[in-house]
Amino acid sequence: MKVLVVGAGISGATVANLASRTARVEVIDSRGTVGGNCYDYRDVNGIMVHRYGSHILHTSDGEVWGFLSRFASFNTYMHRVMAMVEGMEVPIPFNFNSIRKVFPETLAERIESKLLSSGRYGDRIPIMEFLSQDDEDLRFLAEYIYEHIFRHYTEKQWGTEPSNVDGAVTARVPVRLSCDDRYFQDRYQGIPVNGYTDMIRRMLSAPGIELRLNTPFSSVGDVGRYDHIFYTGPVDELMGYRFGPLPYRSLRFEFEEYDMEHYQDNAVVNYPDNYDFTRIHEFKYYLRDRSERTVICKEYPEEFAPGSNERYYPVPSETSGELYAKYRRAAEDEYPNLRLLGRLGDYRYYDMDEAVARAMEVWRSASAGDRKPQAGMMWS
Ligand code: FAD
Ligand code: UDP
Repeated sequence: MKVLVVGAGISGATVANLASRTARVEVIDSRGTVGGNCYDYRDVNGIMVHRYGSHILHTSDGEVWGFLSRFASFNTYMHRVMAMVEGMEVPIPFNFNSIRKVFPETLAERIESKLLSSGRYGDRIPIMEFLSQDDEDLRFLAEYIYEHIFRHYTEKQWGTEPSNVDGAVTARVPVRLSCDDRYFQDRYQGIPVNGYTDMIRRMLSAPGIELRLNTPFSSVGDVGRYDHIFYTGPVDELMGYRFGPLPYRSLRFEFEEYDMEHYQDNAVVNYPDNYDFTRIHEFKYYLRDRSERTVICKEYPEEFAPGSNERYYPVPSETSGELYAKYRRAAEDEYPNLRLLGRLGDYRYYDMDEAVARAMEVWRSASAGDRKPQAGMMWS
Protein backbone atom coordinates (compact mmCIF):
# COMPACT_ATOMS: atom_id res chain seq x y z
CA MET A 1 0.00 0.00 0.00
CA LYS A 2 1.25 3.49 -0.86
CA VAL A 3 0.28 6.43 1.28
CA LEU A 4 0.91 10.16 0.93
CA VAL A 5 0.60 12.39 3.98
CA VAL A 6 0.40 16.11 3.31
CA GLY A 7 1.65 18.04 6.33
CA ALA A 8 4.26 17.07 8.93
CA GLY A 9 2.41 18.59 11.89
CA ILE A 10 1.08 16.48 14.76
CA SER A 11 -1.91 15.25 12.69
CA GLY A 12 0.20 14.20 9.71
CA ALA A 13 2.88 12.63 11.93
CA THR A 14 0.26 10.56 13.78
CA VAL A 15 -1.36 9.18 10.65
CA ALA A 16 2.06 8.58 9.01
CA ASN A 17 3.35 6.68 12.02
CA LEU A 18 0.25 4.45 12.19
CA ALA A 19 0.23 3.87 8.43
CA SER A 20 3.93 2.97 8.37
CA ARG A 21 3.15 -0.35 10.09
CA THR A 22 1.48 -1.61 6.92
CA ALA A 23 2.29 0.82 4.12
CA ARG A 24 5.05 2.75 2.38
CA VAL A 25 4.52 6.32 3.46
CA GLU A 26 5.67 9.59 1.93
CA VAL A 27 5.25 12.71 4.07
CA ILE A 28 5.55 16.14 2.52
CA ASP A 29 5.41 19.60 4.01
CA SER A 30 5.67 22.97 2.33
CA ARG A 31 7.60 24.31 5.34
CA GLY A 32 11.28 23.56 5.94
CA THR A 33 10.59 22.07 9.38
CA VAL A 34 8.53 19.25 10.85
CA GLY A 35 6.05 19.94 13.65
CA GLY A 36 3.61 22.34 11.98
CA ASN A 37 2.43 24.86 14.56
CA CYS A 38 3.83 22.73 17.41
CA TYR A 39 7.37 23.51 16.18
CA ASP A 40 9.84 24.42 18.94
CA TYR A 41 13.62 24.85 19.14
CA ARG A 42 16.35 25.52 21.68
CA ASP A 43 17.73 29.04 21.25
CA VAL A 44 21.31 30.23 21.88
CA ASN A 45 20.59 30.50 25.61
CA GLY A 46 19.38 26.91 25.78
CA ILE A 47 15.74 27.98 26.18
CA MET A 48 13.11 25.87 24.42
CA VAL A 49 11.12 28.38 22.40
CA HIS A 50 7.64 27.59 21.04
CA ARG A 51 7.77 29.29 17.64
CA TYR A 52 3.98 29.54 17.31
CA GLY A 53 3.02 30.41 20.88
CA SER A 54 2.88 28.34 24.07
CA HIS A 55 1.91 24.70 23.55
CA ILE A 56 0.84 22.59 26.53
CA LEU A 57 -0.28 19.03 25.99
CA HIS A 58 -3.41 18.30 28.02
CA THR A 59 -5.74 15.39 27.53
CA SER A 60 -8.03 13.01 29.35
CA ASP A 61 -7.73 10.51 26.50
CA GLY A 62 -5.52 7.68 27.76
CA GLU A 63 -4.99 6.33 24.25
CA VAL A 64 -3.65 9.65 22.97
CA TRP A 65 -1.41 10.08 26.02
CA GLY A 66 -0.13 6.52 25.68
CA PHE A 67 0.56 6.95 21.97
CA LEU A 68 2.49 10.23 22.37
CA SER A 69 4.41 8.86 25.36
CA ARG A 70 6.05 6.37 23.02
CA PHE A 71 7.87 9.27 21.34
CA ALA A 72 8.49 11.62 24.27
CA SER A 73 8.79 11.80 28.04
CA PHE A 74 6.60 14.49 29.51
CA ASN A 75 7.42 16.58 32.54
CA THR A 76 4.85 17.30 35.23
CA TYR A 77 3.54 20.72 34.36
CA MET A 78 0.18 22.26 35.19
CA HIS A 79 -0.47 25.39 33.20
CA ARG A 80 -1.64 28.51 34.98
CA VAL A 81 -2.54 31.78 33.31
CA MET A 82 -2.77 35.21 34.88
CA ALA A 83 -4.65 38.12 33.34
CA MET A 84 -3.64 41.70 33.93
CA VAL A 85 -6.88 43.30 35.16
CA GLU A 86 -6.87 46.88 36.40
CA GLY A 87 -3.12 46.53 37.03
CA MET A 88 -3.52 43.31 39.07
CA GLU A 89 -2.59 39.78 38.06
CA VAL A 90 -5.75 37.70 38.35
CA PRO A 91 -5.96 33.91 37.84
CA ILE A 92 -7.76 32.78 34.67
CA PRO A 93 -10.18 30.94 34.33
CA PHE A 94 -11.93 33.33 36.69
CA ASN A 95 -12.49 31.33 39.90
CA PHE A 96 -12.89 31.85 43.64
CA ASN A 97 -9.23 32.88 43.97
CA SER A 98 -9.82 35.55 41.32
CA ILE A 99 -12.92 36.80 43.15
CA ARG A 100 -10.88 37.15 46.37
CA LYS A 101 -8.15 38.96 44.46
CA VAL A 102 -10.31 41.65 42.88
CA PHE A 103 -13.13 42.30 45.35
CA PRO A 104 -13.15 43.45 48.99
CA GLU A 105 -13.46 40.55 51.45
CA THR A 106 -17.11 41.00 52.46
CA LEU A 107 -18.29 41.33 48.85
CA ALA A 108 -16.14 38.35 47.79
CA GLU A 109 -17.65 36.19 50.57
CA ARG A 110 -21.21 37.24 49.68
CA ILE A 111 -20.63 36.50 45.99
CA GLU A 112 -19.08 33.10 46.75
CA SER A 113 -21.95 31.99 48.94
CA LYS A 114 -24.50 33.16 46.36
CA LEU A 115 -22.58 31.28 43.66
CA LEU A 116 -22.63 28.14 45.76
CA SER A 117 -26.35 28.37 46.40
CA SER A 118 -27.06 28.89 42.68
CA GLY A 119 -24.65 26.19 41.45
CA ARG A 120 -22.41 23.37 42.65
CA TYR A 121 -18.78 23.58 43.71
CA GLY A 122 -16.69 22.63 40.67
CA ASP A 123 -19.20 23.82 38.03
CA ARG A 124 -17.75 25.37 34.88
CA ILE A 125 -20.01 27.99 33.33
CA PRO A 126 -19.41 29.60 29.91
CA ILE A 127 -19.33 33.38 30.27
CA MET A 128 -22.09 33.95 27.70
CA GLU A 129 -24.44 31.79 29.85
CA PHE A 130 -23.16 33.27 33.09
CA LEU A 131 -24.26 36.73 31.93
CA SER A 132 -27.96 35.89 32.40
CA GLN A 133 -28.11 36.34 36.19
CA ASP A 134 -31.16 37.54 38.14
CA ASP A 135 -29.32 38.29 41.37
CA GLU A 136 -27.83 41.78 41.51
CA ASP A 137 -24.44 40.69 42.96
CA LEU A 138 -24.06 37.84 40.50
CA ARG A 139 -24.98 40.09 37.58
CA PHE A 140 -22.36 42.55 38.78
CA LEU A 141 -19.81 39.71 38.89
CA ALA A 142 -20.78 38.42 35.42
CA GLU A 143 -20.55 41.89 33.91
CA TYR A 144 -17.20 42.47 35.61
CA ILE A 145 -15.77 39.24 34.17
CA TYR A 146 -17.27 39.90 30.74
CA GLU A 147 -15.98 43.46 30.63
CA HIS A 148 -12.53 42.87 32.10
CA ILE A 149 -11.62 39.39 30.87
CA PHE A 150 -13.60 38.55 27.75
CA ARG A 151 -14.85 41.53 25.85
CA HIS A 152 -11.67 43.27 24.76
CA TYR A 153 -9.55 40.12 24.53
CA THR A 154 -12.16 38.54 22.25
CA GLU A 155 -12.46 41.70 20.16
CA LYS A 156 -8.70 41.68 19.65
CA GLN A 157 -8.53 37.95 18.98
CA TRP A 158 -11.52 37.58 16.64
CA GLY A 159 -11.96 41.13 15.33
CA THR A 160 -15.57 41.20 16.55
CA GLU A 161 -17.50 41.33 19.81
CA PRO A 162 -18.11 38.11 21.82
CA SER A 163 -21.79 37.76 20.83
CA ASN A 164 -20.64 37.23 17.20
CA VAL A 165 -18.13 34.54 18.18
CA ASP A 166 -19.18 30.89 18.30
CA GLY A 167 -20.15 30.03 21.89
CA ALA A 168 -17.80 27.04 21.98
CA VAL A 169 -14.80 29.38 21.60
CA THR A 170 -15.40 31.56 24.67
CA ALA A 171 -16.62 28.44 26.54
CA ARG A 172 -13.03 27.11 26.36
CA VAL A 173 -12.27 29.41 29.29
CA PRO A 174 -15.31 29.09 31.58
CA VAL A 175 -16.07 30.75 34.91
CA ARG A 176 -15.19 28.17 37.59
CA LEU A 177 -17.04 27.67 40.84
CA SER A 178 -13.96 26.38 42.65
CA CYS A 179 -10.46 27.35 43.72
CA ASP A 180 -8.91 25.30 40.90
CA ASP A 181 -6.92 27.86 38.96
CA ARG A 182 -5.23 25.49 36.53
CA TYR A 183 -5.94 26.45 32.92
CA PHE A 184 -6.74 22.84 32.05
CA GLN A 185 -8.33 20.16 34.21
CA ASP A 186 -7.36 17.14 32.13
CA ARG A 187 -5.97 14.01 33.71
CA TYR A 188 -2.73 14.13 31.72
CA GLN A 189 -0.78 17.37 31.25
CA GLY A 190 2.82 18.10 30.41
CA ILE A 191 5.50 19.33 28.04
CA PRO A 192 7.76 16.90 26.15
CA VAL A 193 11.18 17.17 27.81
CA ASN A 194 13.01 17.27 24.47
CA GLY A 195 10.37 19.42 22.82
CA TYR A 196 7.52 18.88 20.35
CA THR A 197 9.76 18.99 17.28
CA ASP A 198 11.80 16.09 18.64
CA MET A 199 8.63 14.13 19.50
CA ILE A 200 7.20 14.66 16.01
CA ARG A 201 10.54 13.88 14.35
CA ARG A 202 10.55 10.55 16.21
CA MET A 203 7.02 9.81 15.05
CA LEU A 204 8.20 10.43 11.50
CA SER A 205 11.38 8.38 11.79
CA ALA A 206 9.57 5.01 11.81
CA PRO A 207 10.87 2.61 9.15
CA GLY A 208 8.91 2.96 5.93
CA ILE A 209 8.44 6.74 6.16
CA GLU A 210 10.11 9.03 3.62
CA LEU A 211 10.01 12.72 4.57
CA ARG A 212 10.30 15.56 2.08
CA LEU A 213 10.29 19.13 3.40
CA ASN A 214 9.87 22.29 1.30
CA THR A 215 7.49 20.28 -0.85
CA PRO A 216 3.97 21.63 -1.40
CA PHE A 217 1.17 19.30 -2.49
CA SER A 218 0.91 21.21 -5.79
CA SER A 219 4.36 19.83 -6.76
CA VAL A 220 3.38 16.19 -6.31
CA GLY A 221 2.19 15.38 -9.84
CA ASP A 222 0.28 12.13 -10.32
CA VAL A 223 -1.75 11.73 -7.13
CA GLY A 224 -3.52 8.67 -8.52
CA ARG A 225 -0.51 6.49 -7.70
CA TYR A 226 -1.33 6.58 -3.96
CA ASP A 227 -3.87 4.27 -2.34
CA HIS A 228 -4.54 6.91 0.29
CA ILE A 229 -3.77 10.60 0.65
CA PHE A 230 -4.12 12.15 4.09
CA TYR A 231 -4.36 15.90 3.68
CA THR A 232 -3.82 18.19 6.68
CA GLY A 233 -3.61 21.46 4.73
CA PRO A 234 -6.40 23.97 4.01
CA VAL A 235 -9.15 22.61 1.78
CA ASP A 236 -10.05 25.95 0.16
CA GLU A 237 -6.49 26.24 -1.15
CA LEU A 238 -6.57 22.58 -2.29
CA MET A 239 -9.70 23.29 -4.34
CA GLY A 240 -8.32 26.51 -5.88
CA TYR A 241 -10.59 28.79 -3.77
CA ARG A 242 -13.41 27.99 -6.20
CA PHE A 243 -16.14 28.93 -3.70
CA GLY A 244 -14.19 31.81 -2.17
CA PRO A 245 -11.75 31.72 0.77
CA LEU A 246 -12.65 30.17 4.14
CA PRO A 247 -12.22 32.67 6.97
CA TYR A 248 -9.24 32.28 9.32
CA ARG A 249 -7.63 34.35 12.04
CA SER A 250 -3.90 34.80 12.10
CA LEU A 251 -1.32 35.98 14.64
CA ARG A 252 1.93 37.86 14.65
CA PHE A 253 4.51 36.67 17.18
CA GLU A 254 7.06 39.26 18.29
CA PHE A 255 10.01 37.80 20.19
CA GLU A 256 12.13 39.80 22.62
CA GLU A 257 15.19 38.76 24.60
CA TYR A 258 16.11 40.20 27.99
CA ASP A 259 19.19 40.14 30.13
CA MET A 260 17.31 39.02 33.23
CA GLU A 261 16.30 35.74 34.77
CA HIS A 262 12.56 36.29 34.44
CA TYR A 263 10.48 38.90 32.64
CA GLN A 264 7.19 37.97 34.35
CA ASP A 265 6.08 35.72 37.21
CA ASN A 266 4.21 33.24 35.08
CA ALA A 267 4.58 31.42 31.74
CA VAL A 268 1.60 33.26 30.23
CA VAL A 269 0.12 36.61 31.20
CA ASN A 270 -3.00 37.73 29.32
CA TYR A 271 -3.68 41.39 28.61
CA PRO A 272 -7.42 41.58 27.99
CA ASP A 273 -7.79 45.35 28.44
CA ASN A 274 -4.51 46.97 27.54
CA TYR A 275 -2.22 46.91 24.52
CA ASP A 276 -2.77 45.42 21.06
CA PHE A 277 -1.31 42.04 21.98
CA THR A 278 -3.45 39.49 23.81
CA ARG A 279 -0.77 37.70 25.83
CA ILE A 280 2.92 37.45 26.65
CA HIS A 281 4.60 34.03 26.76
CA GLU A 282 7.82 33.42 28.67
CA PHE A 283 9.09 30.06 27.51
CA LYS A 284 11.72 29.13 30.08
CA TYR A 285 8.99 28.19 32.58
CA TYR A 286 7.90 25.15 30.57
CA LEU A 287 11.01 23.01 30.98
CA ARG A 288 12.48 25.06 33.84
CA ASP A 289 15.37 26.07 31.57
CA ARG A 290 18.25 27.69 33.42
CA SER A 291 19.72 30.83 31.87
CA GLU A 292 20.61 34.33 32.99
CA ARG A 293 18.69 35.56 29.96
CA THR A 294 15.07 35.07 29.01
CA VAL A 295 13.00 35.14 25.84
CA ILE A 296 9.40 36.28 25.63
CA CYS A 297 6.87 36.55 22.86
CA LYS A 298 4.02 38.99 22.45
CA GLU A 299 1.06 37.58 20.55
CA TYR A 300 -0.80 40.00 18.25
CA PRO A 301 -4.01 38.80 16.56
CA GLU A 302 -4.33 39.65 12.85
CA GLU A 303 -6.64 39.18 9.93
CA PHE A 304 -5.47 36.26 7.80
CA ALA A 305 -4.06 37.49 4.48
CA PRO A 306 -3.00 34.70 2.07
CA GLY A 307 0.70 34.88 1.26
CA SER A 308 1.59 37.30 4.05
CA ASN A 309 0.79 35.35 7.23
CA GLU A 310 -0.36 31.89 8.40
CA ARG A 311 -3.75 30.38 9.16
CA TYR A 312 -3.87 29.73 12.89
CA TYR A 313 -7.56 29.59 13.77
CA PRO A 314 -10.58 28.47 11.75
CA VAL A 315 -13.47 30.84 12.47
CA PRO A 316 -16.39 28.62 13.53
CA SER A 317 -19.83 29.87 12.45
CA GLU A 318 -22.83 28.55 10.54
CA THR A 319 -21.72 30.29 7.34
CA SER A 320 -18.13 29.06 7.49
CA GLY A 321 -19.39 25.55 8.36
CA GLU A 322 -21.57 25.51 5.25
CA LEU A 323 -18.75 26.80 3.04
CA TYR A 324 -16.39 24.20 4.49
CA ALA A 325 -18.94 21.40 3.89
CA LYS A 326 -19.18 22.48 0.24
CA TYR A 327 -15.40 22.32 -0.11
CA ARG A 328 -15.27 18.96 1.63
CA ARG A 329 -17.82 17.46 -0.78
CA ALA A 330 -15.94 18.92 -3.77
CA ALA A 331 -12.64 17.49 -2.49
CA GLU A 332 -14.20 14.06 -1.98
CA ASP A 333 -15.58 14.11 -5.55
CA GLU A 334 -12.33 15.24 -7.14
CA TYR A 335 -9.96 13.08 -5.05
CA PRO A 336 -11.66 9.79 -4.12
CA ASN A 337 -8.46 8.57 -2.43
CA LEU A 338 -8.03 11.69 -0.26
CA ARG A 339 -9.08 12.18 3.37
CA LEU A 340 -9.08 15.52 5.17
CA LEU A 341 -7.92 15.87 8.75
CA GLY A 342 -6.17 18.24 11.12
CA ARG A 343 -6.96 21.76 12.25
CA LEU A 344 -6.84 23.02 8.67
CA GLY A 345 -8.13 19.97 6.78
CA ASP A 346 -11.14 19.53 9.07
CA TYR A 347 -11.43 23.29 9.68
CA ARG A 348 -11.86 22.58 13.42
CA TYR A 349 -10.41 24.34 16.45
CA TYR A 350 -8.53 21.18 17.55
CA ASP A 351 -6.11 21.13 20.43
CA MET A 352 -3.17 18.77 19.92
CA ASP A 353 -4.82 15.82 21.64
CA GLU A 354 -7.95 16.22 19.51
CA ALA A 355 -5.81 16.40 16.37
CA VAL A 356 -4.10 13.13 17.38
CA ALA A 357 -7.41 11.41 18.26
CA ARG A 358 -8.88 12.50 14.93
CA ALA A 359 -5.81 11.23 13.02
CA MET A 360 -6.18 7.87 14.77
CA GLU A 361 -9.87 7.75 13.83
CA VAL A 362 -9.14 8.63 10.18
CA TRP A 363 -6.41 6.00 9.91
CA ARG A 364 -8.68 3.34 11.46
CA SER A 365 -11.42 4.15 9.01
CA ALA A 366 -9.05 4.16 6.00
CA SER A 367 -7.31 0.93 6.95
CA ALA A 368 -10.65 -0.75 7.59
CA GLY A 369 -11.46 0.05 3.96
CA ASP A 370 -14.36 2.43 4.62
CA ARG A 371 -15.07 3.98 1.26
CA LYS A 372 -16.62 7.17 2.52
CA PRO A 373 -14.27 9.43 4.45
CA GLN A 374 -15.81 10.21 7.81
CA ALA A 375 -16.60 13.76 8.75
CA GLY A 376 -14.43 15.38 11.43
CA MET A 377 -15.18 14.22 14.98
CA MET A 378 -16.75 17.50 15.94
CA TRP A 379 -18.89 17.86 12.84
CA SER A 380 -21.25 15.17 13.94
P1 FAD B 1 -0.56 22.18 11.65
O1 FAD B 1 0.28 22.20 12.87
O2 FAD B 1 -1.11 23.45 11.11
O3 FAD B 1 0.21 21.37 10.53
C1 FAD B 1 -0.20 21.38 9.18
C2 FAD B 1 1.06 21.24 8.33
O4 FAD B 1 0.65 21.07 6.97
C3 FAD B 1 1.95 22.47 8.38
O5 FAD B 1 3.26 22.10 8.71
C4 FAD B 1 1.85 23.04 6.97
O6 FAD B 1 3.06 23.63 6.54
C5 FAD B 1 1.52 21.82 6.15
N1 FAD B 1 0.82 22.12 4.90
C6 FAD B 1 -0.29 22.88 4.77
N2 FAD B 1 -0.65 22.94 3.46
C7 FAD B 1 0.25 22.20 2.77
C8 FAD B 1 0.41 21.89 1.38
N3 FAD B 1 -0.45 22.34 0.45
N4 FAD B 1 1.45 21.12 1.02
C9 FAD B 1 2.34 20.63 1.96
N5 FAD B 1 2.23 20.92 3.29
C10 FAD B 1 1.19 21.68 3.68
N6 FAD B 1 -2.94 22.89 21.30
C11 FAD B 1 -2.82 22.31 22.52
O7 FAD B 1 -3.17 21.13 22.69
N7 FAD B 1 -2.26 22.99 23.58
C12 FAD B 1 -1.84 24.29 23.46
O8 FAD B 1 -1.35 24.87 24.43
C13 FAD B 1 -1.98 24.92 22.19
N8 FAD B 1 -1.59 26.21 22.03
C14 FAD B 1 -1.76 26.80 20.81
C15 FAD B 1 -1.37 28.14 20.67
C16 FAD B 1 -1.52 28.77 19.45
C17 FAD B 1 -1.12 30.22 19.32
C18 FAD B 1 -2.07 28.08 18.35
C19 FAD B 1 -2.24 28.76 17.02
C20 FAD B 1 -2.45 26.75 18.47
C21 FAD B 1 -2.32 26.10 19.71
N9 FAD B 1 -2.68 24.77 19.88
C22 FAD B 1 -2.54 24.18 21.12
C23 FAD B 1 -3.26 23.98 18.76
C24 FAD B 1 -2.18 23.18 18.01
O9 FAD B 1 -1.26 24.08 17.43
C25 FAD B 1 -2.89 22.34 16.94
O10 FAD B 1 -3.81 21.46 17.54
C26 FAD B 1 -1.93 21.54 16.10
O11 FAD B 1 -0.85 22.30 15.62
C27 FAD B 1 -2.69 20.94 14.92
O12 FAD B 1 -1.80 20.17 14.16
P2 FAD B 1 -2.08 19.88 12.63
O13 FAD B 1 -1.05 18.89 12.22
O14 FAD B 1 -3.51 19.53 12.43
O15 FAD B 1 -1.89 21.27 11.88
N1 UDP C 1 -10.63 34.52 26.20
C1 UDP C 1 -10.81 35.81 26.69
N2 UDP C 1 -9.97 36.28 27.66
C2 UDP C 1 -8.97 35.53 28.17
C3 UDP C 1 -8.79 34.22 27.68
C4 UDP C 1 -9.63 33.75 26.69
O1 UDP C 1 -11.68 36.53 26.22
O2 UDP C 1 -8.24 36.03 29.07
C5 UDP C 1 -11.57 34.04 25.16
C6 UDP C 1 -11.13 34.51 23.77
O3 UDP C 1 -12.29 34.71 22.98
C7 UDP C 1 -10.32 33.33 23.29
C8 UDP C 1 -11.13 32.17 23.84
O4 UDP C 1 -11.57 32.63 25.12
O5 UDP C 1 -10.21 33.31 21.87
C9 UDP C 1 -10.37 30.87 23.97
O6 UDP C 1 -9.21 31.08 24.76
P1 UDP C 1 -7.97 30.07 24.70
O7 UDP C 1 -6.99 30.52 25.73
O8 UDP C 1 -8.48 28.69 24.78
O9 UDP C 1 -7.41 30.35 23.25
P2 UDP C 1 -6.13 29.73 22.47
O10 UDP C 1 -5.11 29.37 23.51
O11 UDP C 1 -6.66 28.57 21.70
O12 UDP C 1 -5.71 30.88 21.61
